[in-house]
Amino acid sequence: MSDAANFIEQIIDGDLAEGGVQAVQTRFPPEPNGYLHIGHAKSMFVNFGTAEKYGGKCNLFFDDTNPSKEKTEFVDAIRADIRWMGYSWTKEVYASDFFDIIYDYAERLILEGKAFVCDLSAEAIRETRGTLTEPGKESPYRNRSAEENLRLFREMRAGKYADGEKCLRAKIDMSSPNLNLRDPVIYRILRATHHRTGDKWCIYPMYDYAHPICDYLQGVTHSLCTLEFEDHRPLYDWVGLSLGFSPKPRQIEFARLNITNLVMSKRYLKKLVEDGSVHGWDDPRMPTLTGLRNRGVPAEAIKDFCARAGVAKANSECEISYFEAVVRDYLNAHAPRAMAVIDPLKLTITNYEGGEEVDFEINQTDPNAGTRKVRFGKTLYVERSDFSLDPPPKYFRLKIGGYVRLKNAYIVRCDEAITNESGAVTEVRCTYFPESRSGSDNSGIKAKGVVHWVNAETAEDAEIRRYDHLLKDAEYAGQDFSERMNLESEHIFRGKAEPYLAAAEEGEVFQLMRTGYYKKCTEGGRLCLSETVSLKDNFNK
Ligand code: ATP
Ligand code: MG
Repeated sequence: MSDAANFIEQIIDGDLAEGGVQAVQTRFPPEPNGYLHIGHAKSMFVNFGTAEKYGGKCNLFFDDTNPSKEKTEFVDAIRADIRWMGYSWTKEVYASDFFDIIYDYAERLILEGKAFVCDLSAEAIRETRGTLTEPGKESPYRNRSAEENLRLFREMRAGKYADGEKCLRAKIDMSSPNLNLRDPVIYRILRATHHRTGDKWCIYPMYDYAHPICDYLQGVTHSLCTLEFEDHRPLYDWVGLSLGFSPKPRQIEFARLNITNLVMSKRYLKKLVEDGSVHGWDDPRMPTLTGLRNRGVPAEAIKDFCARAGVAKANSECEISYFEAVVRDYLNAHAPRAMAVIDPLKLTITNYEGGEEVDFEINQTDPNAGTRKVRFGKTLYVERSDFSLDPPPKYFRLKIGGYVRLKNAYIVRCDEAITNESGAVTEVRCTYFPESRSGSDNSGIKAKGVVHWVNAETAEDAEIRRYDHLLKDAEYAGQDFSERMNLESEHIFRGKAEPYLAAAEEGEVFQLMRTGYYKKCTEGGRLCLSETVSLKDNFNK
């Protein structure tokens, strides 16, 4: 993370130096039509982070101008997600708080000849809009008198017309090279019950018109948004100038966060939930904040990732492996270590009878974390993949005649493998060397491999869940999302875990040694461990 000012801060520094702005104010502006995703974390990082840096304010602004898609359920979830991220807002504000004023401003525009009621259908408006190379065509209703426009607009509000029968358009310039300035629609008729204003209104302002007004009324000085709004800035400025806003908020656009193997569009995420491709908005494979939280990704790691990814002006795509590397770094420093096996194979130490305790470092990267005791035993479980009947050269894990250290305990020699009728290995039998105990090894035996284990006598059954990415690799880029979907991305195993994990707090994340980072939870009385991120770092630095 660098402390050098990013391009947004440079602009703000300029505004402060010129004196046009005294105190910085931003807003985080979600539309309550779905759950927040990691892209929104970037927007929060920019909006809350910038305000914090300048000792300014940042409101939570619900952009609720589209009643047919918005719900109180989403408002509540968004609030909870922002709090979880550790941000707090100065004020909670809704676009709908301002509907009366937004309406009055529209009447003002009409009286000043800057807006007109248009009878063209949405389709006709689209067709007469022109293209990037051709100007649009003026509406035949463009030159209605202010009195007529005012009467019609009031009738629209009073419910005299059907949805879509009329609309209010700003009167700007049908031949502007910027399509957004070609008499954009600023009010539409829509009979939909609003989650806050109920049926009070049957006309609703459009985002591009409402947003600058709401920014101004809140006292926003810098309206930070993503790059797709760059072309809308002239309209943002037109609204401010036409209504005489002073000081006029300044819109600044930054690049969206895009991550490979992730979809970050609420519309698409919603589809995944609705068609049952995932278990819900909080499915651990979802890039939603609730999904990431459920997966055990700490909010601090998400913030750290946003900080490292930086604030840029140009769009780019970030590797998912980079995100994972940041999460892994964070957890490496914070997660306690524990042992569990995913695919258990019984290991018997034929010459061991005790049940002593061995020391186990809770987190070797943290000198203050200390140690705990783990009970060793005659019968253990090890990972099936740590034994080979037919080992390749340089195989240092369990093989007949080979020596291996059982993590933090003793060196054993593998003597025998027991197989069933179909030839599958059901147990391995070993000899241990009493002089080889970790920390006081004077056996003189060399064991290159170390394997983790769980004491069979005290082991708890655990459902272990591992995940692949929801979207197949970048090689599929450009194809339709539905073709890239990885429907078999959740894998469930019946494993064994040390009792320490069963006793741990709900939601805590552990490093399962040699395996990965897993979040502990209990479901229906069953211990579950679900993968946050694997140990393997495949980010190419
Ligand atoms: P989606 O495409 O997921 O529906 P949106 O832009 O419609 O997202 P909003 O609720 O309007 O969702 O977004 C709130 C704020 O978060 C907006 O300022 C938007 O620009 C920003 N935002 C959304 N996605 C990203 C992203 N991937 N990176 C950075 N900012 C984002
Ligand atoms: Mg949006």
